[in-house]
Amino acid sequence: MNTAYDIIILGGGVAGMTAAIYAARANLRVLILDENACGGLVNWTKVVENMPSYKSVGGMELVQRIQDQVEALGVDVEEAACIDSMELTGTEKVIEADDTTYTAKAVIVATGRKPVPLKVGNVADVAENCEQVHFCAICDGAAYVGKRVLVVGGGNSGFDEAIALLDQGIKELVLVEKMDRFFAAQTAQDQLACRSNATARHSTEVAALHCDGALRSVTLRNVDTGQEEECACDGIFVFMGQQPGTEIFQGQLAMDESGYIQTDELMATNVAGVFAAGDVRPKKYRQITTAMADGTVAALEAERFLRTMAC
Ligand SMILES: Cc1cc2nc3c(=O)[nH]c(=O)nc-3n(C[C@H](O)[C@H](O)[C@H](O)COP(=O)(O)OP(=O)(O)OC[C@H]3O[C@@H](n4cnc5c(N)ncnc54)[C@H](O)[C@@H]3O)c2cc1C
Repeated sequence: MNTAYDIIILGGGVAGMTAAIYAARANLRVLILDENACGGLVNWTKVVENMPSYKSVGGMELVQRIQDQVEALGVDVEEAACIDSMELTGTEKVIEADDTTYTAKAVIVATGRKPVPLKVGNVADVAENCEQVHFCAICDGAAYVGKRVLVVGGGNSGFDEAIALLDQGIKELVLVEKMDRFFAAQTAQDQLACRSNATARHSTEVAALHCDGALRSVTLRNVDTGQEEECACDGIFVFMGQQPGTEIFQGQLAMDESGYIQTDELMATNVAGVFAAGDVRPKKYRQITTAMADGTVAALEAERFLRTMAC
């Protein structure tokens, strides 16, 4: 297997796949490494209604169409790839993943963001120990039809996803928010309030999970009074926002104080030949179109960088 590429793209969301399309069309040898499945957050989006050329398109359908285009252009794609180590600072970039050594002259980082995990007691991410903790209603909601779920997070995502779960046939839903009010749009709050099998509580945190092989119940605690209550629960859906998952780039790429990878307006990082695109960058608007735009610029600049190197 030839593992030498012109460009390696880390992360196959819409930013990474768009970069791959541009790079492959420039006749470059391109590899996408994704730790999950390509498509990233768009896989989690039921319907996309702001993608020019589609009035409305399912997130998974949109991803499939982009993937078909990537595949047709001969881009190599490794999904479920586990990146063990990387050396990005040299002229030749070296990435070790799943016992394979990949090399390239340019790298585009497009690893997006990850959900903020639910911390309970001393456990920093309860999803690591409990299979019934989820971050995506579309992906995992169907398993809870006729069951009881807890939604954590009182912002727009929490309320929107709670409504999506109820629409799938959840028997009973409780939404909790730790702060003293909800942050979702009033319309979303009103929609949930209309559902007889849903309740929303602010000033409430998850104090404990009770499992015997599977999740059976949770202890909810009122943060003002300290009063606790055990609540039967088959699954937990966490929507507490997103954060960049950039730990693997620590010490190699410059980041801002929140862990987003810093770039100039042409997507160049502080390391020659390494570019970043999409939600992993500090930016005000994180959308599919803005991620695609970043991917476009990163690929064109990576191509220009490779041409300059060849001279
Ligand atoms: C619930 C929700 C709904 C949304 N709805 C819309 C909408 O309707 N319209 C719109 O325009 N925008 C929407 N957005 C925003 C939009 O989805 C994102 O801005 C966009 O998808 C970001 O693309 P990206 O490629 O930068 O990152 P991501 O989509 O996050 O993709 C990153 C990819 O990198 C991979 N990855 C992460 N870490 C690693 C690693 N260490 N190694 C290898 N691979 C890695 C991930 O598996 C993932 O596939 C929504 C976002 C959310 C959360």
